Amino acid sequence: MSCLFRLLCLVCWLCPMIADAAGLAFRLERLPPDLAASEATIRAGKLDDRFALADTTALRDLDRPTWFRVVPMQDWPTDASPALVVRQTRFQVLTVFPGDGSAATKLGALRADYPAHLTRGLMIFPLVAPRVGVPIYLLAEPGGEPTQMRPVLSIETRDAAEAASLTHVRLAIGTFGALLTLALCGVCVWLMLRESLFLLFSSVVACQGFYVAMVFGEGLSLPGMDALLPIGGRLVNLFAGLGALCASMFARRMVDIGRIAPRLDRSFAALQWAYVLLLIAVPLVPPSGMVVLVALGNLTVMAGTAMVLAAGFLGWRSGSRAAAFFLLAWMMMQGFTFARTASFLLGTETGPLLYYGFPLSMVVAGVMLALGLADRVREMRHALREAQRRAQIDALTGALNRRSILERLDAARIAFRETGEPVSVLFIDLDHFKRINDTHGHLAGDACLREACKRVGSVLRRTDALGRYGGEEFLVVLQGAAAPVAGTIAEQIRAAVAAEPVCAWQQTIAMSCSVGVASSSSDALSAEDLIARADAALYAAKRDGRNRVALAPLSPLVAPPMLAAEGESLA
Ligand code: GH3
Ligand code: MG
Ligand code: MG
Repeated sequence: MSCLFRLLCLVCWLCPMIADAAGLAFRLERLPPDLAASEATIRAGKLDDRFALADTTALRDLDRPTWFRVVPMQDWPTDASPALVVRQTRFQVLTVFPGDGSAATKLGALRADYPAHLTRGLMIFPLVAPRVGVPIYLLAEPGGEPTQMRPVLSIETRDAAEAASLTHVRLAIGTFGALLTLALCGVCVWLMLRESLFLLFSSVVACQGFYVAMVFGEGLSLPGMDALLPIGGRLVNLFAGLGALCASMFARRMVDIGRIAPRLDRSFAALQWAYVLLLIAVPLVPPSGMVVLVALGNLTVMAGTAMVLAAGFLGWRSGSRAAAFFLLAWMMMQGFTFARTASFLLGTETGPLLYYGFPLSMVVAGVMLALGLADRVREMRHALREAQRRAQIDALTGALNRRSILERLDAARIAFRETGEPVSVLFIDLDHFKRINDTHGHLAGDACLREACKRVGSVLRRTDALGRYGGEEFLVVLQGAAAPVAGTIAEQIRAAVAAEPVCAWQQTIAMSCSVGVASSSSDALSAEDLIARADAALYAAKRDGRNRVALAPLSPLVAPPMLAAEGESLA
């Protein structure tokens, strides 16, 4: 929870910094791409009448180097140094000619000569003070990867641009760091629990982290990335595809979709194969094929997203809380994806909140998924405890089963040996139970067994234990009770069982029991000896007419018949 809180603080801290790009008003114009022209011709203004109004998507959809010009619609109003800022490109190479004949600046995020002091996610080109109607020329070269993201151009003060670039870096690194930390936590938990779901979780968030780092350009500045710069654009596609594949595997396991919806599970298997094929194709396809591959990838991701949401919904409907967490996490992230896609389709500019909100939603989704996983572990622990409890309980009566009551007796015997705390065993047998079964039926007999247990339990103290030894025979272990106390409790039990008839299956059934009592003596007897003595006392109680209590003598057992003769009847 504290993690979520910290994240909210981070978002609150960052949001005011994501200001919309505002600045000097200008028009963007483009020279027809098929018109070959030299730099000197363009800069001399000889083709100025051939430029036509264009929008920023033209900067993105390039198949050859293309000339643009930015025509200010007002004079630069301050003394502060101006800059042309280009946001949200996918690694195009741009050269900007400031306008007064001073040196051009060429930037390409995938070029090794990218200035180390600038982020690769936001290009800043120094300008001389723009004047109304005096064009600033710009040469855009292809070299990026296909994307639907719409570049954003602005003319602002260099200080504002540098502040924006710092915000960009903070958001990119913050998101990357948060996602990678989540991934690392997942790996640590996996090392402890060996539950592969945690490893899948780590893979999902790690892929998202690297995807964000690559899209925002900061990943391209990571140590050792120089060699990978030429395929930097494809790394975005690789991490997007790998993340989607891991997410579908994670959803499948987390929601246990094979159990809930086998048909959807088979579709997931097909989807995962599609992801694998796309991932294999990413490094192999020539640049001209990337547009088709990315379109195919987007379609597959959309289908995958719908399936993941359907899986989460079905899991949630079938009562899985983990699925509910999952659904919430994914819906939030998909909300941003849909909003972004809608803004692409409508051709509106992707505002900074949509641009930066998406990776932040990934972090929130990662935290939600971690919470869902924790909840699932909690459920598993609860199920384990429940299974352990059931393994100790007799299903019919709810008393302890034979093994558990013998364990309790053993523990009490050990306590007696170590601390001298007395222990007594009551051997209870229902009287003429075969007759009850024969007269009233086995179901009525079962009801009597349950009722007898309830009545015995009502007499016992919290520290006493009742277990079914077999059939209609029960053992009670009384820790801390010497013979006189045990005899009194046994008598209370006998009285409670016989107190009133049992009403079951529209019949009234008289019931009673006999109890044999054996207590620890100074002789170090085993648990078996104690039971044998209680059994012998029970035999005596039966022989003396049933519905009574018999105490075994404190001396060690010699032979059951003899002991039975010595059994003392309390009833
Ligand atoms: P006694 O007073 O000497 O103990 O006579 P009894 O009839 O109680 O003793 P016996 O050992 O002859 O019969 C025990 C009966 O308990 C036989 C068996 O069918 C019945 N029984 C054992 N387990 C269950 C059970 O789970 N449900 C029911 N309904 N009957 C059971
Ligand atoms: Mg019996
Ligand atoms: Mg019996």
